[in-house]
Amino acid sequence: MAANTEKTFKFVVVGGGIAGVTCAEQLASQFPSAEVALLTAAPLIKAVCNFKQISKTLEEFDVEERPSSVLEEKYPNLRVIQSAVKRLHAQQHTLQTVDGLEIHYEKLCICSGGRPKLLAQDNPYVLGIRDTDSAQEFQKRLSKAKRIVVVGNGGIALELVYEVEGCEVIWAVKDKAIGNTFFDAGAAQFLIPSLDKDKPERAATCKRARYTIEGPAATQGLAVGAGGDRQGQSRGLEEPGSALGPDWHEGISLRGAEEVSHRVSVEYQSEVKQIYTHQDFLLSPLSFFIFIFSSTVLFSHTIGSWPVYAQLTNGKTFGCDFIVSATGVVPNTEPFLHGNNFALAEDSGLKVDDHMMTSEPDIYAAGDVCTAGWEPSHLWQQMRLWTQARQMGWYAGRCMAAGVLSETIELDFCFELFSHITKFFNYKVVLLGKFNGQGLGLNQELLVRCTKGHEYVKVVLSGGRMLGAVLIGETDLEETFENLILNQMDLTSYGEELLNPNIDIEDYFD
Ligand code: FAD
Repeated sequence: MAANTEKTFKFVVVGGGIAGVTCAEQLASQFPSAEVALLTAAPLIKAVCNFKQISKTLEEFDVEERPSSVLEEKYPNLRVIQSAVKRLHAQQHTLQTVDGLEIHYEKLCICSGGRPKLLAQDNPYVLGIRDTDSAQEFQKRLSKAKRIVVVGNGGIALELVYEVEGCEVIWAVKDKAIGNTFFDAGAAQFLIPSLDKDKPERAATCKRARYTIEGPAATQGLAVGAGGDRQGQSRGLEEPGSALGPDWHEGISLRGAEEVSHRVSVEYQSEVKQIYTHQDFLLSPLSFFIFIFSSTVLFSHTIGSWPVYAQLTNGKTFGCDFIVSATGVVPNTEPFLHGNNFALAEDSGLKVDDHMMTSEPDIYAAGDVCTAGWEPSHLWQQMRLWTQARQMGWYAGRCMAAGVLSETIELDFCFELFSHITKFFNYKVVLLGKFNGQGLGLNQELLVRCTKGHEYVKVVLSGGRMLGAVLIGETDLEETFENLILNQMDLTSYGEELLNPNIDIEDYFD
């Protein structure tokens, strides 16, 4: 092998998403004289900016897509190589990339993220949304669409159905209420009216700097900063980019071909049973029934000619322009598994211990690709979110450093309490601890305060102690509730007064 295709680094991080970039930055700053490599399939990296620690565990930040040169300028010992990993030889401590590079490492961190779990592979009418490319493809298809079917009940589906205008949206959720991943039926009830209202005007500016790459000409312009060994080349769609985050739809118009604002119909407790192309549909027995029963509820949505039809488990069939599959992600582990001995979790993630170490020596993992395999604090659970990708990447970097320096390191405080701050349907949403009573079964008591169109506050108590909370709207309760959850104070004597809007709870527990 020619010498210039072989490289050796003390630390190698795979993945230019939040987890990988944070990990690489941590290592590069802690070991200024060690060579650190960040290997990534995408030409742009994700950088955390405007980081704000809102309370002990709640954090907020923006994410910018940046050319990799920005990282290399900031850390002279950090080299960004744009080339997808195709094979890992864990025993030999070697990675092979699609461009024929062979990279040797002392310590490796895999942060290759996930890819959308698609309802159907290779069906041109089924789209997943993960990165900038797929969001742009979605936008392009939407601009000509009159009706789409959105399948899924997580954060992406929630945002999508709220943001799309000018197109009828059929939203198939497998649960009895919307947003089941994030909150309960009460909160869903609070949010549902927003789907019938016009959306408030948004500020025209986009807070995330976005670099677009549209073929060779545009890529040339980017080559100055693209870094790595493939400057000037455009990325194939099969090579995954980094996952988008909360503001992925800002700056792109999510407008269909019709002159309507919101038009969302929710199909509860339903999943997709079968997808028919136009041709298959005409030949199927279903089309015969529809011909006869087209005026019934079950088949009224199939009238007209559509490129694709989705038959749901509730018996209804919908013709539409395309289907959005927003049913979660599958960890991107494939290039790393062959010939190695990784312990995998049930969700196919690389299982990591409380030092973010996989079961293979000197290999760590962080972000969407990994699954926390340690016994977690009773107030924390893993969710594949931006904040956790940052926290895991940062902590993995510290653990790798501690491993090299033979130092001991304690599980970071951020894994003590689950906390997440986001926006749904234009409301601020804060989730704390066991916000949905996860794992508590009947052993929980709920207190709820709700003012329609203004706020929804839910507290989860068990044995008189607060274990979780959902705060929707400008409640200003997050810090106080976070403290009450962390200090596990017995709140039995306060009863329902805890949510009495006339009591200034902040002063009360000061
Ligand atoms: P990724 O960002 O997926 O990065 C993986 C990186 O690995 C990429 O750079 C990719 O190019 C690289 N890679 C993959 N395979 C290889 C390979 N073989 N060789 C080299 N490089 C490789 N989270 C929130 O907290 N709030 C939200 O509101 C929210 N909204 C979201 C909306 C959308 C549309 C999506 C898709 C996700 C959303 N998320 C949200 C989730 C959040 O974006 C992810 O959890 C987080 O970005 C994961 O970061 P990561 O670094 O682990 O992975």
